[in-house]
Amino acid sequence: MLTPDQIEARLERLLLKVQKPGRYVGGELNAVVKDWSAVRTRVAFIFPDIYDLGVSNVGLKILYDQVNQREDALAERAYSPWTDMEALLREHGIPLYSLESKRPLADFDILAFSLPYETLYTNTLNLLDLAGLPVRTADRDASHPLVIAGGHACMNPEPMHLFVDAFAIGEGEEVIHDIIAVHQAWKEGGAARPDLLRSLAKIPGVYVPSLYEAHYQDDGTLAETVPLDPLAPKVVIKRIVARLPPPPTKFIVPNIDIVHNRVSVEIMRGCTRGCRFCQAGMITRPVRERSVDEIVAAAEEAVRATGFEELALLSLSSSDYSRILELVTAVGERFTGRHLSVSLPSLRIETVSVALMDKLRDRRASGFTLAPEAATERMRRIINKFIPDEQILATAREIYAHGWPTIKLYFMIGHPAETLEDVQAIADLCKRVQAEGRKIMGGRAKVHAGVSTFIPKPHTPFQWVSVDTPGQIKAKQDLLRRELHGGAFKLSWTSPEDTLLEAWLSRGDRRIAEVIYTAWKNGAKFDAWQENRRFETWMAAFAGQGLDPAFYTHRQRRTDEIFPWDHISDAVRKKFLFDDFRQSLEGQIRVDCRQQCFACGILPAFANTRRDNPGEYWKCPEVRSPAPKEKELVVIP
Ligand code: SF4
Repeated sequence: MLTPDQIEARLERLLLKVQKPGRYVGGELNAVVKDWSAVRTRVAFIFPDIYDLGVSNVGLKILYDQVNQREDALAERAYSPWTDMEALLREHGIPLYSLESKRPLADFDILAFSLPYETLYTNTLNLLDLAGLPVRTADRDASHPLVIAGGHACMNPEPMHLFVDAFAIGEGEEVIHDIIAVHQAWKEGGAARPDLLRSLAKIPGVYVPSLYEAHYQDDGTLAETVPLDPLAPKVVIKRIVARLPPPPTKFIVPNIDIVHNRVSVEIMRGCTRGCRFCQAGMITRPVRERSVDEIVAAAEEAVRATGFEELALLSLSSSDYSRILELVTAVGERFTGRHLSVSLPSLRIETVSVALMDKLRDRRASGFTLAPEAATERMRRIINKFIPDEQILATAREIYAHGWPTIKLYFMIGHPAETLEDVQAIADLCKRVQAEGRKIMGGRAKVHAGVSTFIPKPHTPFQWVSVDTPGQIKAKQDLLRRELHGGAFKLSWTSPEDTLLEAWLSRGDRRIAEVIYTAWKNGAKFDAWQENRRFETWMAAFAGQGLDPAFYTHRQRRTDEIFPWDHISDAVRKKFLFDDFRQSLEGQIRVDCRQQCFACGILPAFANTRRDNPGEYWKCPEVRSPAPKEKELVVIP
């Protein structure tokens, strides 16, 4: 294996031959470089897409800080080299290395992949291969690093079960320390690799797939996934932190232009709205908020430490932060006159959102984003995002009246029980919104409709429904293209092929792992990038494994079907999801669960944690001690 000096020397000759060499050199402001000989554990955090996207990933930033705060461990980073750099690395025999120390990834103790979405899977295999490591967990031994992964895609880890040694399910801030502790004990004890995996399986929230086996029925559906080892739990329940730790402030300042050159502060985690299509809203429960003081202080410190001129206040639904007006006022006062633009994503469709944005107004931004998701009231009831048309139009009027010339409207096609009339209504609503703008600012008023295709994700009330077929998707997209043309409208959409690929990967079982392997072997990588789409390669990989891709996408699931992700729990009960699904078909909506707790399962699973953390910080009802079994739980309304 090459030394860091040898890698640096070879890189010097190569970097001038690639686009954006700054992606590959490290040395950024706030990068942490520690002495390798002074620590017991070395962790490489890896984002399996290019530097330009990965460097601003907040999850990895949090974990990088967590590990580097320890005296006995260090964390470094690696990203996917773009195809030009990959070709040179392979040609010159340079293994994938970390940016901080230029050490080969194979020298680390733990490789921790971030998998926020499924189209990173082939890149993950590619990076293991570029690091000179066996891609399959079964082929790695005690001389190889432990390969772990976390992130939202891991809520169904089965498609990657052959390649990842252990998955961290849920939030990573605490479990990463547990994993390091187990690894240190194993390394110093000199035991075999299977012992490490068995010890990891004892950590709450850690799933070790090689300790489980899946059995299938004659019709191809899953019969069960069972542990093979008494130490492996039947169901792995996600980890959460009782309190969000202080937000990281020493953001890496890249030496090149990247997608998000900004400071991000997470203002709250979780969502109580209950939109039935939204996986993030279900799997990140419960809602926990940071205080206004903590957010403002972190923003101040981060801006000071980085010099960035943009601040993003992150959450799944900013309007639901309970002190949003106070926060916006405090941020406005603190940063007045300092050329800082502040963004507040995911605001509710109501006129007060316009007032909030006006307070924070980014003078460079010309657009304002709203996400109705559906355009008929029937469909909004089905998806549980009920907003009357009049509220949308009133908000649009307010936006145009405040001088924003473009409104971006997000919709999805392919919701359950959708008809072409529902799709026609998307075009009609865009026209009505633009007509409101025309009354106020004439021909300057524009509407940009972003229309994606719905994928029923695991752990949501819609996990039982099928994905639209390519023919259905095309008919709906053609309708929108016919209706929304001309200078006042811009329409963007997701290709049916991209939708299907994401659906296969997110809803797949263990058999999909060989499909991923075959597709990667035949050249699939950067699957999230349109220019790298290799749909035929994926279809051939399915055929090579004797699997029908439609089995995973265009099939309504039986009500009693066992899902490949049922042994991975986000603590929201399957029965709760199914009841919610049934209610959706009856057009019933569920209010925000801050108004009424629907007993989704979070409180029984985390009763002790809630009991020990009373008060407004969590947005679930309080729990009275002693923390009991589910049926004994006492919830204070
Ligand atoms: S326990 Fe109740 S309040 Fe908490 S997330 Fe679930 S439904 Fe909402």
